[in-house]
Amino acid sequence: MDDVFKGSFTQQEPIPDDGIAAATDVMRSGRLHRYNIAEGEVPEVVRLEREFADYLGAKYCLAVASGGYAMSTALRALGVSPGETVLSNAFTLAPVPGAIASVGAIPEFIGVTRDLTIDLDDLAARVAERKARVLLLSHMRGHVCDMDRLVEICASADVQIVEDCAHTMGARWRGVPSGMHGRVACYSTQTYKHMNSGEGGFVVTDDPEIAARAVLLSGSYMFFDRHGAAPTPDDVAPFVGETPNISGRMDNLRAAILRAQLRRLDENCRAWTERYRAVEEGLRNTAGLTIIERPDHEEFVGSSIQFLLEGWDGASIAEVVARCKARGVELKWFGAEHPAGFTATYRHWEFAGADDLPASNAVLHGILDMRLPLTFTLDDCRLISRIIADEVRRGYADRRAAE
Ligand SMILES: *Cc1c(COP(=O)(O)O)cnc(C)c1O
Repeated sequence: MDDVFKGSFTQQEPIPDDGIAAATDVMRSGRLHRYNIAEGEVPEVVRLEREFADYLGAKYCLAVASGGYAMSTALRALGVSPGETVLSNAFTLAPVPGAIASVGAIPEFIGVTRDLTIDLDDLAARVAERKARVLLLSHMRGHVCDMDRLVEICASADVQIVEDCAHTMGARWRGVPSGMHGRVACYSTQTYKHMNSGEGGFVVTDDPEIAARAVLLSGSYMFFDRHGAAPTPDDVAPFVGETPNISGRMDNLRAAILRAQLRRLDENCRAWTERYRAVEEGLRNTAGLTIIERPDHEEFVGSSIQFLLEGWDGASIAEVVARCKARGVELKWFGAEHPAGFTATYRHWEFAGADDLPASNAVLHGILDMRLPLTFTLDDCRLISRIIADEVRRGYADRRAAE
C-alpha cells in the first residue's frame, strides 16, 4: 500500500495569542484607521513601521494594503510613466507584471536560469539597450541571484532597482537583509507569505523623496506628520500638490496582528528552512530529478521548495503531478500549458506582448514547486519527499521503458 499524505498545503499557523489580544484592543478602541489617533497614542501601524524598518536597518517604511500595491506605489514614486518599459523577471507571479501594468508601463521580461534566478547575461544585454530606467526584480520563490553583479549591471546604465521581496522577507544575501540592495523594496503580508495579515504589504527605502511620495500616494491626506518611520513633514510638504492620493493604507488591526509575528519572524524562518532541508534531503539522489543547489552565502527562507524534471516531456511531468496529488502531495508545475491556481508564467501574460524566451521556456517547462507551511512537521516533510521521490522514480522508469 502506498503512503498517502493527509495534511493541507494551504493551512498556515494561527495568529499568535499576543497578536489576537492586541487586535482585540484595537477593536475595543474603535480607532482602526491609522490616522485616527488619541492624544499621546502611538498607533499600531506606526509601531509596526518603525519595528520593520529597524529589523531591516532601513530608514523608512510604509505599511500598505498589499504587496501588489507596494510595488505599484514604488514604481509611481520613481516616476514611472505610461508607455515606459520596466524590466522584470520571466519567472515570477502575476502581481509583479500586474504592478507594472497598473501604472500603464510595459513589462519586458528577463530570462530565468537553471538556478531559478534572473539571467544576468540577459539582463546586462537589455540594460545596455537603454530602453528602461527601472528593474522590478522579483526574488521569486526566495532564490536570490548574485546581487553584487546585479547591482553593478544596473548601475552601469542608471537602472533603478525595485526589489520584490514577497518570498525573501527575513532572508539575507552575504549578510545583507533582502531588500536592502535596491532603491526600494516591497514586501507582502498576504496569508501565504512570511507574515500573515490576510492582505498587506510594506514599501521600504532609504530615500526620503521616494518615502515622501509613497506616504502621499498611499492616502495620507494632510496627516503625514503622524508618522514614525517616514521623512519629516518638511521633507514631505514639497510633494503634496503634485502627488495623487491613491488610497492603499494599512489599518491598525492588521498591524497589531503583524507586530506579534514580526517578533517571531527569525524563528519562523529557521523553522521553514528546517522543513526545506528535510524535503531536499529526501529528494536527493532521485534519478531524473534535479535539486536546486543553494549558494552558501544565501540565507534563504524555505517556505517553499522547487526542483526540476529536466528534459522530461510534458505528459510525463503531468503524470507525476497527478500521481503525487492522488497521494495528497500538491505540486505546482510552471510548464503547464494553461495558468492554474497561483501559477502562471510570462507566456500567459498576454497583455505584456512579450517576446518568446526559448532558453527560459526550457527551464520553466521543468519547474515543480511546493509550498511548505509551518503546520507541517519534519515527519510530514519526510513523508512528502518519499512520495515525490517514489513517483518521480516511477515516472522516470516508465519513460525509460517506453524509449
Ligand atoms: C504574493 C506576491 C506578491 C504580492 O502579492 P499581494 O497578494 O499583492 O500581497 C508579489 N510578488 C510575488 C512573487 C508574490 O508571490
